[in-house]
Amino acid sequence: MRDVCWIEPGALTTLLAEARRWLLRETGGALLGWRGEEGAVIAAVLGPGPEANHGLRHFEPDVQWQQREGERIYRESGRTIAYLGDWHSHPYGGPYPSRQDRKTARMIADDRAFRAPEPLYAIASKHWYQLRGPGWHLRVMRLRGGRLLDTSLQPLPELGLDRRESQSGVTQLDATT
Ligand SMILES: [Zn+2]
Repeated sequence: MRDVCWIEPGALTTLLAEARRWLLRETGGALLGWRGEEGAVIAAVLGPGPEANHGLRHFEPDVQWQQREGERIYRESGRTIAYLGDWHSHPYGGPYPSRQDRKTARMIADDRAFRAPEPLYAIASKHWYQLRGPGWHLRVMRLRGGRLLDTSLQPLPELGLDRRESQSGVTQLDATT
């Protein structure tokens, strides 16, 4: 059975706004939240940080900035909102993890500092023919047994987004907020 993953409206808005800011370059950051009985809850999203590297087909976050911000949010949330995994955008190319993406996900799992042996790994994507359109796909995967497996992404009930799940496990979010 597919893992379920929930996302808070504010976190989704932050993620999509950051992705939109970089029409032709990749961006990304970290997914923060907690694991509940019914699946992971993404409660906050971190952006790239000031020293991030935004390429046409690659992205490296400002790791030090992310660590500082992550720790601050963890403290201020009474140690409930912690690191869950990474996200980045594919402004063209679709929601498919590259070889480097798989490597990054495994590196996060193996690095004890992240405390995420089965991290979430999300890709926000757009197809080239949709570059100027509003629609983004958000695919949230989770690394299990060395493989990236799709989760079923569920906006929290109060979201009110137009949500359609395709057979490929890609949730299409036509967020107009
Ligand atoms: Zn990628």
